[in-house]
Amino acid sequence: MPAEVYAELAAAKAELGRAGGAVSFILDFDGTIAPIVSVPSQARAHPSMARVLKRIASRARLSIISGRSVGFLAEQLAFLSEEDSTGQVELYGQYGLIRADLNGRVLATANLDEGQLAMLGEVRGKWLEAPVDGILFEDKGASLAFHYRNAPEMREPLLDWIDGVLPNHGLSALAGKMVFEIAPESAPSKRTAALDILEHGAPCVFAGDDYGDLEVFQIMHEQRLAGEPRVAILVQGGFETPPELLGLSEVHVRDQDELAFVLDQLLREFSLS
Ligand SMILES: [Mg+2]
Repeated sequence: MPAEVYAELAAAKAELGRAGGAVSFILDFDGTIAPIVSVPSQARAHPSMARVLKRIASRARLSIISGRSVGFLAEQLAFLSEEDSTGQVELYGQYGLIRADLNGRVLATANLDEGQLAMLGEVRGKWLEAPVDGILFEDKGASLAFHYRNAPEMREPLLDWIDGVLPNHGLSALAGKMVFEIAPESAPSKRTAALDILEHGAPCVFAGDDYGDLEVFQIMHEQRLAGEPRVAILVQGGFETPPELLGLSEVHVRDQDELAFVLDQLLREFSLS
């Protein structure tokens, strides 16, 4: 473990210790719990993370906020069901569009603008008619993801295609790691989900790795400046890490092994049992 991580961990403990009480955790899935893989459907929780997630689920509140569907998250995190006797694990799928428990049971769904969903349907139709070669298309229902990880040279043609089909208003395109995602503007963001979770005065730890997490890093940062006990951990995936996230995070780890170590240390110190 690099010396800087220990120093940042010590500072994080001091930050959370100011408030007292049990810490809650908010985690992103891809690139945070699971290493990034070339085929998105094959992403799995890293073994070190799986171990620490079990301990977190048995004694702290845990929220997963991801661009994935709650079905996918529930399937990948099914190993937590036994530990989660108190139902403290919640899944926020598709950036918070749907909130579910570990069994994938839907607890809440945000409303989307019907007109914007129709626009999304038109984009879907255009893709299916004439897709861009080499791009892995992921239809999430309420959003469309276009992965170019296996064809980085197709990024520009893909951007051109998106420019050609994206209406002037109603839909937005968000860049992630080797992916663009088109979604209705009325779709909730990770910010909405994070605000739903963050309780005034309660210490909270967040870990994320990508542009999609920017809004959560921002809200954690804002609340930290306002005196709330907040610690944001950035999982740095080499050249793909958005530089904006560096200044919005207090702890910086290189991979899932280091993240698991940090989370475990914080859990040991700040869980009630
Ligand atoms: Mg991620």
